[in-house]
Amino acid sequence: MSSQSAPIRTRFAPSPTGFLHIGGARTALFCQLAARATGGEFVLRIEDTDRERSTQASVQAILDGMAWLGLDYDEGPHYQSERMERYQEAVDGLLAAGLAYRCYCSRERLERLRAEAMAAGQKPRYDGHCRDRTDRPEGIEPVIRFRNPHDGTVAFDDRVRGRIEVENAELDDLVILRADGTPTYNFAVVVDDIDMRINLVIRGDDHINNTPRQINIYRALGAEPPDFAHVPMILGDDGQRLSKRHGAVGVMAWRELGYLPDAMINYLARLGWSYGDQEVFARSELVELFRIEDVNRKASRFDTEKLKWLNQHYLREGDRDQVLVELLWHMERAGLNPASGPEPARLLEVQAERFDTLTELVEQSRSFYQEFDAFEAGAAKKHLRPVAADALQALSGRLAGVAEWEPDALQSAVQETADELGIGFGKIGMPLRVALTGHGQSPAINQTLWLVGRERSLARIERALAWIEARVAAAT
Ligand code: GLU
Repeated sequence: MSSQSAPIRTRFAPSPTGFLHIGGARTALFCQLAARATGGEFVLRIEDTDRERSTQASVQAILDGMAWLGLDYDEGPHYQSERMERYQEAVDGLLAAGLAYRCYCSRERLERLRAEAMAAGQKPRYDGHCRDRTDRPEGIEPVIRFRNPHDGTVAFDDRVRGRIEVENAELDDLVILRADGTPTYNFAVVVDDIDMRINLVIRGDDHINNTPRQINIYRALGAEPPDFAHVPMILGDDGQRLSKRHGAVGVMAWRELGYLPDAMINYLARLGWSYGDQEVFARSELVELFRIEDVNRKASRFDTEKLKWLNQHYLREGDRDQVLVELLWHMERAGLNPASGPEPARLLEVQAERFDTLTELVEQSRSFYQEFDAFEAGAAKKHLRPVAADALQALSGRLAGVAEWEPDALQSAVQETADELGIGFGKIGMPLRVALTGHGQSPAINQTLWLVGRERSLARIERALAWIEARVAAAT
């Protein structure tokens, strides 16, 4: 299955101007899968030529996001900022060959052109004013423009979108090098993709209009363009482009919300790609089944409910080591010391099926690791009543004598106490639950006892008995 086409050498090329977003993560995943599925390579390149907007913190955030998701690459990261000489060299080559030219047009002139075009209802485009100029005005640092062909068409077969054709007459002479000597995106990306021997470019379809321009630059540089696959954008639940308005868009924000890397990966893979109606995919299965051609042309909607469903699945069935690593991360954030309560693996045994996210799971497990300040008023009022005192007292005695503090033995201890007193299991279960956790929501009572541990359970039952006593005293 894995040699469905020639080895794909592709790259993910984020601009470090923020976090790793959901959309970027999905592009990176598609790159990784396409490369792995064909026995190829996945290259990471940081596009940091925009000095004003690129930050080291963003680079780190992107690397962290990729590492968390397990989006490991085979080569890189390469940094565009370290390749400036190479871009200059490529520009010099084009200038020498007459395929690029210096443009001295002032900002005012360009503004005027733009305003005139807009007023006439046309697309703003450079008019080629400096295309044939031979003088070199003093004191003005020129930009370098690419001499785009006037005639003919540029065509390519996008692996997702199909055939795309554009008339050269539609394209103007774009700036490839700014006056400060930095390359523009469309130029640097082509030089890099040539040098890095990329044979398939996978990226968001917001770049699809750049592709014909880039293809012309490939040819001017004497290279064959690679294949392209433009993946559709991701929409929020209201059909608008996914943005902060819709909630978390940064990958690491989803970690904070309690989601697992494997759930995210499974979800992202299905966001625009499908294989029959299968929803759950192991990573190895994705590598085996993924083909870039099967990516949907239409934009997909982000569906938090489905992600939640997958997360619950992976909490229960996913790789235990990964779930434990994430659990410990969340416990630390929540200020819970794993050594002061049940083994985290034990906690998962009981709690994994009860919650959709690790944040909820950890929040609802506090009382297994920490003392609680007070009984929740409503629960205490309802369940810690004088009639419960006898049952709690009897249970306390029996629990003290339980040989093995294990769920089965604990179940028997509670059952026997109920039988002995001739009351239903529930009559003893709810007061006990409130005594042990401070509130009414917890796993099955024997498991709650198991997680709270012997000493803590006995102490908390004492505390509940004291509370009931105080209540009785206050009432009389
Ligand atoms: N740096 C570009 C971006 O982040 C990369 C586009 C491309 O893959 O060519 O959108």
